[in-house]
Amino acid sequence: MILVYDDLMSKKNIALIAHDNLKPAMVEWAKRNIKKLTKLNICATGTTGMHVEEAIHLPVLKFKSGPLGGDMQIGAKIVEGAIDMVIFLWDPLSPHSHDVDVKALLRIAAVYNTPIACNQATADLLISSFEV
Ligand code: PGA
Repeated sequence: MILVYDDLMSKKNIALIAHDNLKPAMVEWAKRNIKKLTKLNICATGTTGMHVEEAIHLPVLKFKSGPLGGDMQIGAKIVEGAIDMVIFLWDPLSPHSHDVDVKALLRIAAVYNTPIACNQATADLLISSFEV
């Protein structure tokens, strides 16, 4: 799916990222929040996006997989002002080849004051506080 400029202007943009052990949790979260998600433009890292799209049948703009630079692509979108919130279910119990990308994404979200939820509890709070 290609986001057209009108879409970007009219709908808020949410980015979804989940490390492998948390993909089922992300899918469950997306199903639970489908009503809100229908009113948002959704983008995601590659594999997360594939799983979410399959589960909720909403279009998801898929970037590269996280280890191949997808986190960085979402970071770049934050810099451009094209992301309104990020749900990032990262796995604190497993090592990742792209740890430095994770850190860079968290940093850039802080720099641009972009809401970023890093666990399910915060993801619930964030989506429930978002007026769509
Ligand atoms: P993925 O990337 O959705 O392509 O698995 C997520 C990540 O590991 O950062």
